Amino acid sequence: MFKNSVTILHVAGIPIRLHISFLLILGFLVLVIGNNIGAIADMAGIAGEELTANPFLLGLILAILLFTSIALHELAHSFVARSQGIEIREITLMLLGGVAQMRNEGDDKDEVWMAFAGPLFSLVFGALLLYAVRPLAARMMADVHLVVYYLGFMNIFLGFFNLLPAFPSDGGRILRSLIARRTSYLQATRIATSVGKAFAILFGVVGFVYGHLFLILIAFFIYIGATQEYQFNVVKDAFSDFRVRDLMTADVSTVTQDMTVAELLELMHRERHSGYPVMDDQSRLVGCVTLHDVRALGDDTPGSTPIGDIMNCELITIRPQDELFYAFKKLSEADVGRLMVVEDGQLRGILTRSDIMKAYRLRALQDLRRAAP
Ligand SMILES: [Zn+2]
Repeated sequence: MFKNSVTILHVAGIPIRLHISFLLILGFLVLVIGNNIGAIADMAGIAGEELTANPFLLGLILAILLFTSIALHELAHSFVARSQGIEIREITLMLLGGVAQMRNEGDDKDEVWMAFAGPLFSLVFGALLLYAVRPLAARMMADVHLVVYYLGFMNIFLGFFNLLPAFPSDGGRILRSLIARRTSYLQATRIATSVGKAFAILFGVVGFVYGHLFLILIAFFIYIGATQEYQFNVVKDAFSDFRVRDLMTADVSTVTQDMTVAELLELMHRERHSGYPVMDDQSRLVGCVTLHDVRALGDDTPGSTPIGDIMNCELITIRPQDELFYAFKKLSEADVGRLMVVEDGQLRGILTRSDIMKAYRLRALQDLRRAAP
C-alpha cells in the first residue's frame, strides 16, 4: 500500500516492508544513540570506559534491534487480528515506527484486544530484557549489557507511549472501542479523534517549549492521522447503506477485441466515452481500453490495428453485491477511474468515481427525508 517501500522478509506469510523514510530515521537514531552513549551507559549503571565498541556501531545495533522490536509489536497486533478473522496484508516499518495494513480495516470491530496486543508485547518483552536477561548480560561484556538494558528500556517506553489514548494510537483505538460499546461507532470515533487531537496539541506545545523536534513530529502525525481516520469513518458511514449494484451503470456499451482502433475512435467520438470494456467473441470480459491507451500509440500505428493488441488498462473487478465502501477503497487503492462489475464471468456494469459520489447526495436526501415530519 505504501509506495517507496521494499519487502525484506516474510513472517508467517506476512510481508515485512521497509519504507524509504525508515533509512532516514535509522541514520538519525544511530547518530542520536552514538552521541549519547555516555548518558545511556550512566542510566544502565555502566562505567563509560568499560565500553569497547565504537559508539556509533552500538547505535546502529540498537537502532536495528529497536526496529526489530517494532516489527514484533506490529506482528503481535497482526496475530490477534488474524485470530479474529482479519487479514493482514503487510507490515511497513517507516519514519515513526510500524504500520500493519489490514485488508478489512474499518470493519466496525471491537479492536480492544487487537490494539492491546502490541503494547502488551512491548511491555512484556521490555520487562524480560530488563529483569531476566539483564542480570545475565551484566556478567558479560559491558557492550552487551548496555544493548540489553537500552532495548528493554525502549520497549517499555514504546509500550506505555502507545497506550496513551492519542488516537489513532493503540491506546486511542482501545478508547474508541470502549466508547463504541455505549454509542455508535462514528460517534465513538469522533470523541476519540478529539482526545487524539488534544494530545497532539499537548505534544506539540511541549515539544516546542523544550525544543524536542521528535515530539513535534509525533504531534503532527497524530493530528493528521486522527483527522484522516475520522474522515474515513464519515465516508464509510455515508456509504454504509449502499451496494455496488445500487449505483453502478448497468447499461454499458462494450467493444470487441477484433474491432479496430479507427472504429474505436469513431465510437468514442460518437458516444463521448473515454473508456470501454473489451469482450471476446464469447462475450466474456477480457480487458478494457481507454483513450489513454490509444494516445500512447505512435503516429505510425495503422488505424486497422485490432483493439485486442493495444488494450492495456488494468482490469479491476468487483461484484454487484459488494459493499459500496469496499468498491470505494478498491478504486482509491488501485488509483483507477472505473471498476468493472462482474458476476459469474459476465459484465454487469461499470462503477466510476462519480457513481460512488452519488451515494453522498442520496444519503443527504435520505437524511432530509428522515428529518421531515
Ligand atoms: Zn501498536
